[in-house]
Amino acid sequence: MSAGGGGEFGLIARHFTRPARSPRVVLGVGDDCAIVQPDPGQQLAISSDMLVEGRHFLPTVPPERLGHKALAVNLSDLAACGAEPLACTLALALPRVDDDFLAGLARGLWALAEAHGIDLVGGDTTAGPLNICITVFGQVPPGQALLRSGARPGDELWVSGTLGDARLALEAFRGQLPMAALAADFDRLRLAMEMPQPRVALGLALRGLASSAIDLSDGLAGDLAHVLRRSGVGATVDVDALPRSALLAAQPLALQHQCLLSGGDDYELLFTVAPGRHAEVHDAARLAGVPVSCCGRIETTPGLRVVDRHGQPVVGDWRGFDHFGA
Ligand code: ADP
Ligand code: MG
Repeated sequence: MSAGGGGEFGLIARHFTRPARSPRVVLGVGDDCAIVQPDPGQQLAISSDMLVEGRHFLPTVPPERLGHKALAVNLSDLAACGAEPLACTLALALPRVDDDFLAGLARGLWALAEAHGIDLVGGDTTAGPLNICITVFGQVPPGQALLRSGARPGDELWVSGTLGDARLALEAFRGQLPMAALAADFDRLRLAMEMPQPRVALGLALRGLASSAIDLSDGLAGDLAHVLRRSGVGATVDVDALPRSALLAAQPLALQHQCLLSGGDDYELLFTVAPGRHAEVHDAARLAGVPVSCCGRIETTPGLRVVDRHGQPVVGDWRGFDHFGA
């Protein structure tokens, strides 16, 4: 259908059509289907994530960052599976054709796609409330995908990067933090929320090493609960061992815990590894260029226990974000 102002096809041609760079793309944008050639013997890993204005992003986000984030949250799912990105598609609903907005969105998307050596190979464009849905396609050798179901009692719990800054940024946007005190830090905080870096290289480096993995989109407590349920285990997390920025560490403890445990939008990897493999995990992290921290242990007793560095229980309601939750 036509989305007005130069039409749907003009819009696609102007912003979302570029010659494919990857030799794996046999056929890109322009036909009824795209054709992508995975490497021989590999399985496809597929994931979709949708961003809706007002739900997943604020109207204040620069379009370029929105384009980045829309792809980043999808690549993060491939990272969590230890899959290598191949290509992506983009389904877009637009209230109107705004070429400046679209150019920015495309720029952010292409930049991240290029950084990961993938092409945009197709999609769909329609008029409607602003909605961006990307599907990513990746590949992984049979049996090597990192799953949520592989955590075993005794495994150690690890997390990449730092947690909680995206949530802290949201608090700042909501006027819950004294902006004057944040000053220059606000831009950095905002970057954490608007331009997450998908940990694709780490996911690949953790193949054959991590027993389970998930990416942190809805907050550590909620996302870890998915792993625990799928694996039929429980865990204790040391909240003092959770990695955080100096800025978050300077906030009141209750706010720190909220941001670290139920923050959301971190897009770091949470993964489990059999004990005694610290050197290998740190080697993988070095290879991927991202720091990792050991922050807990998998146990047979179901449920999540949060303690401080002295082993004292830390109480709170750490439920993860649920769009249809109460
Ligand atoms: P069809 O009607 O067969 O579904 P369309 O006319 O919707 O195809 O799209 C024409 C071509 O443009 C297809 O190759 C489709 O994948 C691509 N396309 C449509 N929207 C987008 C978009 N937002 N980004 C990238 N490619 C797109
Ligand atoms: Mg179509």
